[in-house]
Amino acid sequence: MWEKYNHFVMALFERSEEIFNNENVLHDDYQPQSLEERDSEIEQFTGYLQPVINGAQPRNIFLYGKTGVGKTAATKYLLQHLEEDSEQYDDVTITTVYLNCEDLTSSYRVAVALVNKLRDPEEQISRTGYPLNAVYEMLWEKLDELGGTILIVLDEVDYIGDDDSVLYQLPRARSNGKIENSRVGIIGISNDFKYREKLDPRVEDTLCERELHFPPYDATDLQNILTKRANHAFKDDVLDGDVVPLCAAFAAQDKGSARQALDLLLEAGDLARRQSDPVVTEDHVRDAKQLLEKQRIEESMKELTSHGHLTLLAVVASTVADPEAPLQKQTIYEQYQDLAKATDRDALGGRAFHNHLAELSMLGILDRAKRNEGRAGGIYYEYEVDVPLEAALSTLENLHMSDELDLDSLRQNAQEKGLL
Ligand code: ADP
Ligand code: MG
Repeated sequence: MWEKYNHFVMALFERSEEIFNNENVLHDDYQPQSLEERDSEIEQFTGYLQPVINGAQPRNIFLYGKTGVGKTAATKYLLQHLEEDSEQYDDVTITTVYLNCEDLTSSYRVAVALVNKLRDPEEQISRTGYPLNAVYEMLWEKLDELGGTILIVLDEVDYIGDDDSVLYQLPRARSNGKIENSRVGIIGISNDFKYREKLDPRVEDTLCERELHFPPYDATDLQNILTKRANHAFKDDVLDGDVVPLCAAFAAQDKGSARQALDLLLEAGDLARRQSDPVVTEDHVRDAKQLLEKQRIEESMKELTSHGHLTLLAVVASTVADPEAPLQKQTIYEQYQDLAKATDRDALGGRAFHNHLAELSMLGILDRAKRNEGRAGGIYYEYEVDVPLEAALSTLENLHMSDELDLDSLRQNAQEKGLL
């Protein structure tokens, strides 16, 4: 059947090369050749790794900072240099192991993953079926066999959670006599500022022997990072002059994340390509920003329960009902109770409802501002939607919550009031 039509069918995919030279350069896993705007952090980091080159016991290093500030990139960059530079010293052998803990939510899983990273493909162990101690034994054996210095990077280490015995065991393996021939150093990386405080003090003492903080980037930093990448990623002369500064400015205003800035630039280029425009312009960046924002909200909304969805709807509906009025919890709560009733759900109590408002604020979907009630005393919060109303509304529409909710008239109402 296909054959019959084949010669009528135009190619579905054709390589398009007008905009990008190599778009992979903008992807998250691309390892840049150089790191911009991180000189002092790199210097400090290098200092912490110096004992390794000297053949001494490595320090355990804890690296923290918000998402997209170059923690992973800087670590990989330095370890690569460390390995290369160590080759000139015969008495130094370095093995580096990189592990992202995102899916490794217990010490057991981390230990299994480490054993498998260190072992040959034909000697892999299964993720279940061994007692924890047996896995540790396999780990010590392998680490001892390797000899030299072994640096283990545990990226997004906070995912390990409370079950963190591996963070206690690994740095002490040598002093506890589990291994003799190797020196092990841990580099823990986290986005979570509070993670440190949650650690058992004994774990904290060793894991955070040396500490390094990566602050957010400002607009100038981001502009330099983007310019370097854009030169490789795009063909000559396809970027309007204000595209990179605008991407940098948007990301700086938000969280100061290079990842976000790069995503925005990639999406803007992709939009231009999809629209067959020869040049990427400021408008593409603005459209890309909206698109990414919408995707982000949709992602966050998936994490929420139906009451979370109704809570957001209540805020949107209250905003449309009276766009100028500051929104307090009680107003939103009443709206929410109506919505819950309309969809045959038991409304949550005030406290549980409050938690949903707090969660939406934490996700950056709502903005929560503290207010002081003058002489009468007392503190209260005012809420507003902190993303474009259009994005919030279309996300809610896509959730297909219930036919009882008339989102069409809500949209129409919002349009009439010029809110969309
Ligand atoms: P983190 O691990 O802190 O979340 P990453 O190291 O993954 O952030 O950085 C996110 C993206 O930004 C990656 O593509 C990375 O290559 C790039 N990046 C971050 N900082 C820099 C920098 N200083 N110079 C060049 N590229 C950077
Ligand atoms: Mg990272």
